[in-house]
Amino acid sequence: MADIIQLLPDHVANQIAAGEVVQRPASVVKELLENAIDADSTTIKLIIKNAGKTLVQVIDNGKGMSTTDARLSFERHATSKIKTAEDLFKLHTKGFRGEALASIAAIAHVELKTKQEQNDVGSSISIEGSNVVSQEVVVTPKGTSVSVKNLFFNIPARRNFLKSDSVELRHLIDEFHRVALAHPNISFVFYNNGSESFNLPISNFRQRIVNIFGNKTNEKLVPVEESTDVLKISGFVGKPEFAKKTRGEQYFFVNNRFIKSAYLNHAIASAFEGLLKNGTHPSYFLNLEVDPQTIDINIHPTKTEIKFDDEHMLYALLRSAVKHSLGQFNIAPVLDFERDPNLDTPYTFKGNDASTPKIEVDSSFNPFREENKSRGNTITFKKEPKTSWESLYVGLESKGNESQQDFSEVHFESDQHTASIFNNENPIEQTNTTYQLHNKYIISNLKSGMLVIDQHRAHQRILYEDYLKNITIKKATSQQLLFPLQLHFSLQDIEIINQLKVDLEYTGFVFSNVKEESIDISGVPVGVPESEVSIILEQLISDVENEVPDSNFSSTDLLAKSLAKSLAIKTGQTLHKDEQEHLVNKLFACKEPNVSPTNRTTFITVSVDELDRKFI
Ligand code: ADP
Ligand code: MG
Repeated sequence: MADIIQLLPDHVANQIAAGEVVQRPASVVKELLENAIDADSTTIKLIIKNAGKTLVQVIDNGKGMSTTDARLSFERHATSKIKTAEDLFKLHTKGFRGEALASIAAIAHVELKTKQEQNDVGSSISIEGSNVVSQEVVVTPKGTSVSVKNLFFNIPARRNFLKSDSVELRHLIDEFHRVALAHPNISFVFYNNGSESFNLPISNFRQRIVNIFGNKTNEKLVPVEESTDVLKISGFVGKPEFAKKTRGEQYFFVNNRFIKSAYLNHAIASAFEGLLKNGTHPSYFLNLEVDPQTIDINIHPTKTEIKFDDEHMLYALLRSAVKHSLGQFNIAPVLDFERDPNLDTPYTFKGNDASTPKIEVDSSFNPFREENKSRGNTITFKKEPKTSWESLYVGLESKGNESQQDFSEVHFESDQHTASIFNNENPIEQTNTTYQLHNKYIISNLKSGMLVIDQHRAHQRILYEDYLKNITIKKATSQQLLFPLQLHFSLQDIEIINQLKVDLEYTGFVFSNVKEESIDISGVPVGVPESEVSIILEQLISDVENEVPDSNFSSTDLLAKSLAKSLAIKTGQTLHKDEQEHLVNKLFACKEPNVSPTNRTTFITVSVDELDRKFI
C-alpha cells in the first residue's frame, strides 16, 4: 500500500496552531500587548472596533524590527526570545514560543508597520490568511503597530462561535486589565470604538489598581508584603467586607505574568477563613517573584498556567502572608452593617416615613378547588386573575424594619388571609395541609395524593413572574431606605447598571444618583435587605456579562431571572406553616407553575394509586 503520511503545508499547520493560541479577539489582544511589552515599550495603545471582531490594533514605542525580522516574525517558531531549550528556564519575556504572529496571520488580515530607532524608514507588511500580500518601505514612527482585521475571516465556524459584542468586549477588557496590572511601569491607553476607555499613566501598583477599578478601591486595599529566599510576595488583598459574590477581582502575577491557579486561590481563601460572608470571594492583586528556574511556563499554549517546583511551600507562604496582613491591619471578623440610623440619617430623610407596600389579597382564591375532582393524578391549576402578586412580603408592613435585616425571615401574608385560602370548603385538608421536608421540599395534600414542591425553584418562579409583571406594567413597589446607600462599582459595571436602570426601577430600586464610579440608592424592592443590595447588583452585572447571546434574549427577562435567583428562598431555609401555604398558593397563581425560570421542574405529584402500588 502506498505511503499516506505527509507533512502539512505551513498555512494548515498555522491554522491548527491558531486554534490553540487564538480563541477569541481577547487572545489577540493578549499576544499583541505581550509582544509590545517584550519590545521594551513605555507607551502602548490598544485600539478596538466592534469588540475586536473588526479590528484589534496595538501600537507601541518599543524597539521595532528590522525589515528581515519583520518578515520572519510571521514564520512559525520564529522568535528572538529563546535560542536553546535551557533558555525556557531563564525567561524574562512574555513570549517565547514564536507562534502568536504566525497563528494570527493564518486566520485574519494582518498589517504590520515597524521601525527601529536608528533607521529613517521602516517596513510595512500585509498578510491575509498566511499569504503575504504586500511588503514595502514606509515612513512610520519608532516602534511597531500591528493591526488585526476580520478575525476568523477564513474559518466561518469559529467566527460564528464568537459571543455577542458585550461578552467579547468583557473578555477583551479582562485581558487588558491583566496585562496593565502586571506592568504599572508602562503607560496604556485603550480606545474602544473611537472613544478613550482607559488612560493609565506610568505609576506604582496601587495607583494602577485604582486607575483601573476606580478611586474607591483605594480604601479597600490591604497591603501584603513578604520576602523569603525563594519567594517575594507583594501586592494587596481587598478588605473582607468588600468581598464580592463573583470572582471578579482576583489576580496572581508570577514574574509579571498573569496566571490562573485554583490551588493558590485556595491559599488566599483559607487565609480569609471566618472573615467572609457566605458565598463571597475576596479580591486580591498579588505579585509573586520567583526564580524562573523554579517554574515551568511551557505547559499551556496561552501561558496562563504554571508548574511550580514547590507548590506546597508557596501555598503555605502565601496563606501566612495574607493572614498576617489581615491581622496587622486589624481586620477582625466584623461585618457591621448596622448603624443607629438616628445618628446619621441625612436631614432631608428625617421625618420621612418609609413607604409601605400595598396589600391586596383575594381571600377566596383556592388553587385546589374544583380542578382535581375527576382527573386522577394530573392536576391543572387555573390562574386566578386577581391574585395578589404584590403581596408576597406583606409581613413587612407590621414588622417594619426588623424584617429588612435578614432575608431568612421572609414574611408572607398574615394568618387570616392564608388560613382562609386553604380551609374554605375543604375540611379534609384543614389540618396539616403543608409540611416541610428537609427544609427543601414542601409537601401538600391533594385529594388524589400529594404534591411535592421544590421551595427554592418555586419561589424563583413566583418572583420571576412578579418582577416581569412589574417591569411590563411599569409599576414599582419600593421600600424607601432610611439613609441612601452608596455603592461603588467600576466604570463598566456602572455602564451595565445604566443600561438596566429603567427596568430596575420597576422592580423597586430607586436610584437617586448615578455617578461615574458610584450609585446612590434610596429605595429597594420590597423585602430586600439592605445588606444584600450590593451582592444582588453584582450578581446581576455578572449575569448580564455572561449572557449567552441568542435572538430571544431580552434584558428584562434576564433582569427578572437574576433578581429571582438572588432573592428566592434558599434550600435549607425553614419555613413556617403560613409561609409554606403561601408559597403553594403563589406558585399556582403563576402562569407557568411547572417550571422555574431556568426551566427546571418546580413540583411533582404522587397519586394515592402510586402509593398503593408501592404497598402491594
Ligand atoms: P514570541 O513572542 O513568542 O517570540 P511572536 O510570534 O509573538 O512570538 O513574535 C515573533 C517575534 O516577532 C518576536 O520574538 C519578536 O522578535 C518580534 N516581534 C513581535 N512583535 C513585536 C513588537 N511589537 N516589537 C518588536 N518585535 C516584535
Ligand atoms: Mg509573542
